[in-house]
Amino acid sequence: MSDTVTRLAATRAAIARMARDFEREPESVTLIAVSKTMPAEAILPALEAGQRVFGENYVQEAKAKWPALKARFPDAQVHMIGPLQSNKAKEAVELFDAIHSLDRESLARELAREIGRSGRAPTLFVQVNTGDEPQKGGVSPSEIDAFLDLCRVRHGLVIEGLMCIPPAEDPPSPHFALLAKIAVRHGLRGLSMGMSADYEAAIQLGATHVRVGSAIFGARG
Ligand SMILES: *Cc1c(COP(=O)(O)O)cnc(C)c1O
Repeated sequence: MSDTVTRLAATRAAIARMARDFEREPESVTLIAVSKTMPAEAILPALEAGQRVFGENYVQEAKAKWPALKARFPDAQVHMIGPLQSNKAKEAVELFDAIHSLDRESLARELAREIGRSGRAPTLFVQVNTGDEPQKGGVSPSEIDAFLDLCRVRHGLVIEGLMCIPPAEDPPSPHFALLAKIAVRHGLRGLSMGMSADYEAAIQLGATHVRVGSAIFGARG
């Protein structure tokens, strides 16, 4: 467990160093500690060490773990970073402080409905499939302009930024640069990009949120 605390501190230090190297404020990069598949006992040391922003991929798993952890650490935030089904929008709006995987009109519509009904408004990122991979979620770069319009104008959603997961076999930097370019074009501040293997390149290209799992919690099952 103390390994987690050591790795968390090293990750924080690396983020701060990278930010300064690229003349950015370290505080302009939010570390999302990705705790998917990790039991509550594995997450507690990170909470006790002051980490407050976490990422989860599955609604049911987050629902099982986080209400009890948030009761102990009320200022902890949980970000949904995995694919989200439209029929889970209600639970997602209740449970999460941010959603990084908005990528379909059916989901935009359900999220808008639940936000209106509950008065809770998670921070929203639209996922972009920068590599146009058929098996991956996200809006194609060729359709992103229309999709952002639809989210904002037709559904009245406030969009904070964009998220991407580059293809595993590609160098990530061109994908991060493409995401940053789309964000600038739409006046979006948030860039959720970079994981354990590539968060330094992402910070160089403007990431505001890096999603780091195994570099903090160790390899998953
Ligand atoms: C699992 C996951 C991460 C974290 O991956 P690591 O390689 O363990 O850092 C980041 N983003 C998404 C969308 C994930 O599913």
